[in-house]
Formats: sequence, C-alpha cells, structure tokens
Amino acid sequence: MSKLKGKVALVTGGSRGIGAAIARRLAHEGANVALTYNRSADKANAVVGEIEQAGRKGLSIAADNSEASAIKAAVQKTVAEFGQLDILINNAGIFVAKPIGELTLADFEQTIDVNVRAVFVASQAAASYMGEGGRIISIGSNLAEHVPTSGLSLYSLSKSALIGFTKGLARDLGPRGITVNIVHPGSTDTDMNPASGEYSDGQRSLMAIPSYGKPDDIAGFVTWLASEESRFITGAGLTIDGGTNA
Ligand code: NAP
Repeated sequence: MSKLKGKVALVTGGSRGIGAAIARRLAHEGANVALTYNRSADKANAVVGEIEQAGRKGLSIAADNSEASAIKAAVQKTVAEFGQLDILINNAGIFVAKPIGELTLADFEQTIDVNVRAVFVASQAAASYMGEGGRIISIGSNLAEHVPTSGLSLYSLSKSALIGFTKGLARDLGPRGITVNIVHPGSTDTDMNPASGEYSDGQRSLMAIPSYGKPDDIAGFVTWLASEESRFITGAGLTIDGGTNA
C-alpha cells in the first residue's frame, strides 16, 4: 500500500472514468494527487475528498486541455502546492466519431488540441520539474493500433500520434532517469463508452473476453507503471483491451 509514498502525481481529466480511478489508486499507493477537470467541478472535488479520506493530499484544478496556458498553470500549481512533481498521467481525452465526409476542421482542431497538443504541453512542463524516477504515462487507445469499424479515423489519428511522441520523449528523458510510456485501453465502462451503450454489443463481439473493462482494470497497471518497479520500462506501450486487438 505504499509503492508511491512521498511521490506527487498530476492526473489530467481526473474527475470521472479512467482518470478518477487512476487518481484514487495513486493515492491508495501513497501519492499526493492533483487532478484537472474541464466541466465537472463537483465530481473532481468528490475525488479529492476520497484522496483525503485515504490520508493523502488532493487538489482539483480547472484546466481545459484545449488551453495550453491552463495546462502549464496546472503543472505549476501542483508544484507550488505539493513542492514537487514525480508522476504525470496524460488521461483527459475526447472521442469524436464520424465518417470522414462529416468531420469538420473544428472537429479536427478540437481533437488535436485536447488529445495531442495538451499531452505535449503537459509533458514538457512536467518534465522541467521531474528528477530521477520521474514517470510520464499517457492514456492512448487500442484504436491507435487497430481500427475495426468506420468513423474512427480522427480519434485513431490522435491516439496514434501519442505513440510516436512517447517513444521520442523516452529518448529525450531517459538519460535523466525519467520513463515515458503509454497504456492503450480498449472498451472500458465510462461515460465516454458505457457498457450499455448503443455500440457496446459490437465492441463485445470483437473481444477475446467478451465483457467491458472497468476503469480499475486500467488504473491498476498505470499505478504499477508509476512505481519504482517499472524503472527499466520506457518508450513502451501496453494494450489492455480484453483481447480486442489480439
Ligand atoms: P470520460 O469518462 O469521458 O472522462 C473524460 C475525462 O477527461 C473527464 O475527467 C473530463 O473532465 C476530462 N476531459 C474531457 N475533455 C477535457 C478537456 N478539454 N480538458 C480537460 N479535461 C477534459 O472518458 P474515459 O473513458 O474515462 O477516458 C479517459 C481516457 O481514456 C481518454 O483519453 C480516452 O480517450 C481513453 N480511452 C477510453 C476508452 C473507453 O472505452 N472508455 C477506451 C480507450 C481509450 P470533465 O469531467 O470536467 O468533463
């Protein structure tokens, strides 16, 4: 229960779903945790309440991923409040699914800003504060590697961009003892992709284990990746998708 004692983490999009599960789990392992949100202030504050109940410090920060200055400010606020930053989880993301003829440039720009540019901005800002043992972990998608249906081109583009970024950043930061990795969830039961949603049966039909993952299925591995035990893993990706891409 103390793999992350003395560490400070920042989770983007920690108010709901996978990010909230990661924030809780990091705190459970001993980290003090700051989390950002865009619209869900109440939910973000509730997650902070759970972190504090676990005996750790928590902090919620309003920071829209599409505003670079807000992300930089969130990183600075985390360091100002907790004195250091050891773990960055780039989790916040949006899912815009439309066939190519219906996608607009506004869809493109919003998806790139939130899913890609924000990861660049947060990682650059966080790395400037991290020392030996630092961890940057991004949440990608199994759709970065395999696209089983139509309408996913923009989302897949945004998540596959993170694979190249992860590898390049691992090279930049490896000499400083900072690791950079990506975790690719598959169908996971959240507001973004409810297990009872319109397209859920189609997703289950693609899986080796035909049932949705839970946010904790992703959070457990991410938390281990944030620990000292993963010190020799960098520039790597792991797909956690019940065998969809198998
Ligand atoms: P979710 O339930 O929709 O939660 C999204 C989280 O991201 C919320 O905390 C939300 O904050 C935050 N967020 C959204 N737009 C934001 C913005 N512009 N600025 C800051 N925060 C923003 O999604 P999820 O399923 O947990 O997804 C988390 C990550 O996993 C995403 O990167 C997603 O692409 C990826 N993923 C999910 C699945 C899946 O099946 N669920 C599969 C593969 C990958 P507010 O609450 O304030 O809106």
